Amino acid sequence: MLNRRESFISSLKLEMVYIPKNLWKQSLFYLLPRNAWRSLRREYIRQYGYECEICGSRRRIQLHELWEFDDKRYIQTLTGLILVCWKCHRVIHLGGKERYYRECDAFWVKHFCKVNGCREVTFWQEINRLRHLKRLRDKHKYKIRFGEFKERVEECIAVQSR
Ligand SMILES: [Zn+2]
Ligand SMILES: [Zn+2]
Repeated sequence: MLNRRESFISSLKLEMVYIPKNLWKQSLFYLLPRNAWRSLRREYIRQYGYECEICGSRRRIQLHELWEFDDKRYIQTLTGLILVCWKCHRVIHLGGKERYYRECDAFWVKHFCKVNGCREVTFWQEINRLRHLKRLRDKHKYKIRFGEFKERVEECIAVQSR
């Protein structure tokens, strides 16, 4: 059961993610050849339009991987891809790189609060939630699963190495 705070946090439109340290640079973004990643992004844009699926912005649209975490069996599974603007994307990954928000935190706090319609305190609660996850997840070696994208990943890598 989620406690009240967690269920409140998880209802945020723009949430942050913490990737276990042993899986950094293991995502599709890093594994796929550059041109395969770019064509994946183009395919999503063709299908869903050049628009951030979180805040609706039409500036600097990037592809973001959605992961599900099994923190009991230590498995990270890819569940989908979404198009996000560069600002939302940076906020999503703030939890992994402290320097991002130390460098210009007011900027990210502002974007986070605007998109979520929340106050600044919620931003810092979210940062704390991520720090907590970091402590938990970095103690273990997580396995990665590409879910329904598994064949796609293998295909892209095979095509590239041909
Ligand atoms: Zn956005
Ligand atoms: Zn991302």
